[in-house]
Amino acid sequence: MVDRPEVALDELYREVVLDHHRRPRGRTPLPRVDARAHGLNPVCGDEIHLHLSLDGDRITGVEVQGRGCAICTASGSMMAEVIPGHTEVEATAFAEVFRNVMHGKVVPPDVDMGDLEALEGVKKFPVRVKCALLPWVTLVDALRAWRNGATEGTATTETEEANP
Ligand code: ZN
Repeated sequence: MVDRPEVALDELYREVVLDHHRRPRGRTPLPRVDARAHGLNPVCGDEIHLHLSLDGDRITGVEVQGRGCAICTASGSMMAEVIPGHTEVEATAFAEVFRNVMHGKVVPPDVDMGDLEALEGVKKFPVRVKCALLPWVTLVDALRAWRNGATEGTATTETEEANP
């Protein structure tokens, strides 16, 4: 009997995604909201209300509300776990790396994707890529709005396509 580790890995990844879907992180309302954005993925119907708190340019809290499919919810949950503690510039760069990975590029050796690795297989399904990217498109938009002194950003996955 030949061992097939790639199958076991698939199972593991599925478990990681399902765990984030069942118990999404970042659902606790933030005591203070410094940046926000509303994100929409019309293809799937995913909708996100993203709140951020910042201390200077460092993100101290991420709150993700809304309704999404398993992929979108898991991706938002992973974002809520990985982004706090990073600066606005670092978070934007991380979002860019994840977007590149979803579009087929390899993960740079110096980047630790954390649980987001579990979503890498999604890149084979272009329609689901939008689901995985929605939280990140919304994050970038919230940070852009914050930088520009706007009260709220509005992101859609069409925005994502328009800016390759
Ligand atoms: Zn979706």
